[in-house]
Amino acid sequence: MTNFPKDLLTGYGLYKERIYRQFEEEYQKLAIYGQEPQTMVISCCDSRVTPEGVFHAQPGELFVVRNVANLVPPFIQGGGTHGTSAALEYAVTSLKVKHIVIMGHCKCGGVQAFRESNGKLGKTGQFVGPWIKMLEPAAITLACTPVDKNEDPQLALEYAGVRQSLKNLLTFPFVEKLVTQGSLHIHGAWFDIGTGSLRIMNNETEIFEDAQDLGARLKEQEAAEHAPEEPEASE
Ligand SMILES: [Zn+2]
Repeated sequence: MTNFPKDLLTGYGLYKERIYRQFEEEYQKLAIYGQEPQTMVISCCDSRVTPEGVFHAQPGELFVVRNVANLVPPFIQGGGTHGTSAALEYAVTSLKVKHIVIMGHCKCGGVQAFRESNGKLGKTGQFVGPWIKMLEPAAITLACTPVDKNEDPQLALEYAGVRQSLKNLLTFPFVEKLVTQGSLHIHGAWFDIGTGSLRIMNNETEIFEDAQDLGARLKEQEAAEHAPEEPEASE
């Protein structure tokens, strides 16, 4: 007998019966014509944070990479097996995505492990330690920033980690070139698991703002742009 997890077999059965049957035609088209996602999302491995769920996306819509603490390494050539860098290269140069979203989240275990390590990252694991060391520049930047006493230090580092990964993205020449040309846009986001709130980083202020407020403002702006012009008052 198999020891494959029973809940996965049950879940797969439901997917095949309900979801696949409903979207069979779309899936067949995706298989034949290939994928053409417009957006890449870099998210955490955390099981509570699912980009497809948060953005209500269907297969083929998002190109997703998930790693510990949603980190983008800097552009480093040679040595190592650069999984995230490979995915980034493929998304940008082959799929030609238009947007890259780095999505942090609350209570991130990777960020927490970094904070609790007190510089002894070896204790966090043979592979986890060197990986989350990438948060070091973010932590240094934070340490050099005036302290807001109301800010939760875990949240502050989660935000700073996203900002650092955005900076690291620009160290990849193929990303930097397209961002400069305006054909690729990079964004920071942060998701709150318990409330379902999403915050989007304002690229000018680097402050994270409520996504629903941002959505409402966008709608207002679009409505104003499409509103018929007021006829000039005649005297
Ligand atoms: Zn995480």
